[in-house]
Amino acid sequence: MSWDDWKWQLQNRITELATVQKSIELTPEEEASFTAAQDRFSFSVTPYYFQLIDPKNPFCPIRKQVIPRAGELIQQPNEKEDPLAEQKFMPVKGVTHRYPDRAIWYISHVCAVYCRFCTRKRKVSSPEETPNRKEWEEALNYFKTHKEIKEVILSGGDPFTLSDANIDYLLGKLKSIEHINHVRIHTRHPVTLPMRITESLCEILGKYFPMYLVTHFNHPKELTEEARLAVERLVKIGHVSVHNQTVLLRGVNDDLNVLSELNYKLIKFGIKPYYLHQCDEVFGSSEFVVPIEEGIRLMFALRGRHSGLTIPNYVKDLTGGGGKVLLSPDYLLEKKGTSYIFQNYNGDRYEVRH
Ligand code: SF4
Repeated sequence: MSWDDWKWQLQNRITELATVQKSIELTPEEEASFTAAQDRFSFSVTPYYFQLIDPKNPFCPIRKQVIPRAGELIQQPNEKEDPLAEQKFMPVKGVTHRYPDRAIWYISHVCAVYCRFCTRKRKVSSPEETPNRKEWEEALNYFKTHKEIKEVILSGGDPFTLSDANIDYLLGKLKSIEHINHVRIHTRHPVTLPMRITESLCEILGKYFPMYLVTHFNHPKELTEEARLAVERLVKIGHVSVHNQTVLLRGVNDDLNVLSELNYKLIKFGIKPYYLHQCDEVFGSSEFVVPIEEGIRLMFALRGRHSGLTIPNYVKDLTGGGGKVLLSPDYLLEKKGTSYIFQNYNGDRYEVRH
């Protein structure tokens, strides 16, 4: 076992304050709140992702994503445990079926790294939330009997924490359901554990062409040589179509040059920038939230200067389960207090809060 082995990386994850302190100069505020914040939502980082942290810079964008902070313990009035109401639309354990044509299946609640802004921190990192084999069959049966479902999105946690054999089994079952048009996988492993994207995993994915994968790079520092090789394996061996969703995060990527470099590098690696997400209103996330007008200003600047291929759609998932809306500068009508009123090309109006 070694650095390049994904199982070694998982087994050697950094989970303790004392281990962090050996390598990183934490601020007094970080030290004081670490344990309480970790009790609220697990702390865990792979050695690979940990070494991307600048040990002396408290503003390091990697550190900001993974080191617990006091702000996570404060719940603002607009923040929810389950901001997207995923539990409300759950017909069987582990499946959210909100829109008729697609369903999300949370096949793991484990991740290589726990991101402090995670929308699903209410359940991610809790092993008991991960569906068991009996619950897999119940979910598969639900997909079989609901012929309106055209797309299944494998999500989590991280689906790639499952073994190759289990991934092969689940993809085989899904692909054998005639009315399912395609399968999409949401994974952050190309970012936090690129060694998980092995040739053998990619050969399995290649059996189920076409396969769509959405990953989650937030900063150009994450686009390392290891990540580049992982994406190359996905594309060349797995024949996977790779997309990226970035969450707009204060102090991480709320900067024109950072977003520009990120998007160009993604394209260079073979990844299409897909979404720029407004941070969800999940409890303890307010330190990460960038005002929508600032997001719109950044999108305007990106669109004016850069290749259309590098431009993601700026979106927000409405709190309460209303679905995703486009925060296009073209649709913004007015700002009313803390709300923004948008009108899309159909004439539909929608109100989005900060
Ligand atoms: S990898 Fe995704 S699911 Fe896991 S903690 Fe990060 S944001 Fe949440």
